[in-house]
Amino acid sequence: MSEKIPVAQRLSAVKPSATVAVAQRARELKEQGIDVLSFSVGEPDFDTPAHIREGAKKAIDSGATRYTAVGGTVELREAICDASAKRRPGITYKPSEVVVSVGAKHTLFNLALGLYDEGDEILIPAPYWVSYPEQVRLAGANPIIVETTEESGFRMTPEALRAAITPKTKALILCSPSNPTGAAYTAEQLRALADVAAEHSFWIIVDEIYGQLVYSGFDQKSIVEVAPELKDRIIIVDGVSKTFAMTGWRIGWMLAPEYVSKACQKIQSQSTTNPSSVAQLAAVAALRGPWEPMEEMRQAFEARRSIIVEGLNAIDGISCGMPEGAFYAFANVKALIGKQGGGKTLETDVDVAGYLLEEARCAMVPGTAFGAPGFLRVSYAASNEMIREGLSRIGEAVAKLA
Ligand code: PMP
Ligand code: GLU
Repeated sequence: MSEKIPVAQRLSAVKPSATVAVAQRARELKEQGIDVLSFSVGEPDFDTPAHIREGAKKAIDSGATRYTAVGGTVELREAICDASAKRRPGITYKPSEVVVSVGAKHTLFNLALGLYDEGDEILIPAPYWVSYPEQVRLAGANPIIVETTEESGFRMTPEALRAAITPKTKALILCSPSNPTGAAYTAEQLRALADVAAEHSFWIIVDEIYGQLVYSGFDQKSIVEVAPELKDRIIIVDGVSKTFAMTGWRIGWMLAPEYVSKACQKIQSQSTTNPSSVAQLAAVAALRGPWEPMEEMRQAFEARRSIIVEGLNAIDGISCGMPEGAFYAFANVKALIGKQGGGKTLETDVDVAGYLLEEARCAMVPGTAFGAPGFLRVSYAASNEMIREGLSRIGEAVAKLA
């Protein structure tokens, strides 16, 4: 046997996606016949609405089976611009400023390759979505984690932003509403961050993939609406996965200055070419079609949010704030750390998640994966029955801890 040829050095600092890994583990256990309830993955449990599926069927039958323009068809890019103009009044984008990719994760990956140079610093408030720092590392740049506190609702303060900025700062990645906390920034909070950013020169990348999943009448605003004078430095990342329950279709996009759009299309022309032609037409049906099915899903998430947050808070040793959006509860489990369970001491949130998987057969992602030890992310993209059953199992398992 010859010696193993090593894989690329650049992978040595990169972790695989923890959210994908926990979801995969839950899936495997289920396949083994173990009745695991998965509160792990950030994926709506609803099927894609019927009119969108019809749009895809029509696309196939009408022969939309070939390569498309790299950045997406004009039809889809126009639909994206129109939908954005409705959502972000007063702000308009042209189709040439849109690049459609194979999911918003791919959009962010294109941006990492297209914007960051070796040694650049990219500011990422914690708790952060797992892929942000790893994509930055893959691009050879340095993720700079900006801590937030539970007291501030996990929102980065202007002071913390100011303190993290250096001459090497190339971008800030902001996610509102946030994965994993569900926290969303108000217009005033965004304005205060924009004021700090305005004193410097770096990209503001805003991930608004959960922007249409907000509750209790939260007034969701994009930073570009609040600080339109910074539009030429703002890049919006969005997609159909969450709002339209279309995770498997893999369609996401950026709204960006045209030269950034061109740079990212250059990358995409050498990697995936275009996103799936059929999925693009399904996305057109989603963006142009009736809104009622999405509103029904949003209302279902809102009802589940109350059940999960109240249920988690009712468990001794777990506490949890009320998130403004997305479909995650971010539960503080610090009081469980140090307890004995399953024949060992639970030393970290990773141990707590492991214990709850074994004992309660409930899969959740440990906060450590999001740069926030001591917490668990509980996705409530699950039926009310499953949430109630999960809460009762978690409650019983926690009560057994000594
Ligand atoms: N951003 C955030 C914050 C997410 O939670 C996700 C979910 N995977 C994505 C981007 C990417 O979504 P997708 O690739 O499915 O469009
Ligand atoms: N964004 C979702 C999550 O955080 C899907 C998995 C992933 O792409 O990371 O669970």
